[in-house]
Amino acid sequence: MQIYNTETKRLEEFVPITPGEVKMYVCGPTVYNLIHIGNARPMIVFDTVRRYFEYKGYKVNYVSNFTDVDDKIIKKANEEGVDSAVISERYIEECKKDMQSLNVKPATTHPKATEEIGGMIDMISTLIEKKHAYVAEDGTVYFRTRSFAPYGKLSHKNLDDLQFNMRGIRVAGEDQKEDPLDFVLWKPKKEGEPYWDCPWCKGRPGWHIECSVMSRRYLGDTIDIHAGGEDLIFPHHENEIAQSEAANDKPFVHYWMHNAFLNIDNRKMSKSLGNFFTVREVIEKYDPQILRYLMLSAHYRSPLNFSRELMESAKSSYERMVNCAGNLDFLIGSASAGDIREEEKELLAAADAFRGKFEEAMDDDFNTADAISSVFDLVRWINQNVNESSSRAFLEEVRHELLELADVLGLILDRKPEVEEDEASYIEAKIEERQAARKARDFAKADAIRDELKAKGIILEDTKEGVKWKKQ
Ligand code: AMP
Ligand code: ZN
Repeated sequence: MQIYNTETKRLEEFVPITPGEVKMYVCGPTVYNLIHIGNARPMIVFDTVRRYFEYKGYKVNYVSNFTDVDDKIIKKANEEGVDSAVISERYIEECKKDMQSLNVKPATTHPKATEEIGGMIDMISTLIEKKHAYVAEDGTVYFRTRSFAPYGKLSHKNLDDLQFNMRGIRVAGEDQKEDPLDFVLWKPKKEGEPYWDCPWCKGRPGWHIECSVMSRRYLGDTIDIHAGGEDLIFPHHENEIAQSEAANDKPFVHYWMHNAFLNIDNRKMSKSLGNFFTVREVIEKYDPQILRYLMLSAHYRSPLNFSRELMESAKSSYERMVNCAGNLDFLIGSASAGDIREEEKELLAAADAFRGKFEEAMDDDFNTADAISSVFDLVRWINQNVNESSSRAFLEEVRHELLELADVLGLILDRKPEVEEDEASYIEAKIEERQAARKARDFAKADAIRDELKAKGIILEDTKEGVKWKKQ
């Protein structure tokens, strides 16, 4: 299995630290808002990496954090006049709902920064003892970047160039740095901010230290894979390496994996640029599986430009897979019992070639785009080779192969369509609610109900006989 390692800029054969196991850490979101579909890209991509390892028989220990103490969380809490924990808990729950919709498996452990402060204080103390960190006059603790000789090895940056280009993030006490390259491990509290006691000052951790600490606590000093979006390469992951390797005197990570951006109009989708769609917005209009399909339709290291056209094309492709599985279900329902026939055994051997192609693509640095093509080859083959006279055992084998490969990609093909009767009674109930709102002259609510149905493709028509509805 070949993995592209950002550090060596090469494809490398995957050799686990412990045979049969993968220790993997994926940097998670800062929880102050609903996640956007750019944030969903690493979640889906690395969930697929995990699924493929599991398919190959590895036990995967998958850790992904929630950054629940941060300037943006504090700002939002102050705006709403609530504790910052109220904000972070709310958005952790919302994020978990989105992950579930996207069929992203929960991590083995989802640590939260605020629950790991003790470990952070320990690691910072070690770094101070080893002279890799120092305490400034106001209690801010800085990492002494030049004390860690390999600094820059991940992002391939040279320290002197870095110093020249430094656009340091302004933090309290920045003028007390020994060197502009030094970065914050711990900062003193400000009015209205959450804080913890520690030997240097009442305050809170810098961002980078949490991942070094959580990775060590749940996975050990050295791990197999550390992953995240490519914006994290510098400074976040570079700083994590410096902290962990300086504190533990061990290599931190064997394989660094980074996904490229999800763009919109060829610019990175981001909260700060305001050019984003939340996962919630998109899955109101489309089955979340279609969004998952779209994310996997490109290689994770290629930029992906999000558009309505791309979503529509993902929709029709995904539906082709679902229809194939549905057709198999239909045939299985009416097929006669009995063993697989001789000629069917030969057919099954041919079908296994698609599994081979699928694995070849996934072994090549998780090339999900090619893996999807091989699923379509299988779909085409199924459509040509199954019919009403196929034996049930044969149909079930074929179905198993299709569903198993789709499941490695986290794509669910055998979801039963919603019962029509349920859907009709749901729409009728909504229409009644709208009529009641109109009677009460609450036209805003009435319009909102109409729009809600419209988003689901249901159009209301007010006629003399009453309200009628139809599907778009
Ligand atoms: P953040 O909450 O900004 O720290 O982001 C959480 C994760 O989403 C990180 O791994 C980011 O690299 C990733 N991410 C943020 N925006 C994008 C984007 N537009 N495309 C791909 N990944 C992104
Ligand atoms: Zn991190």
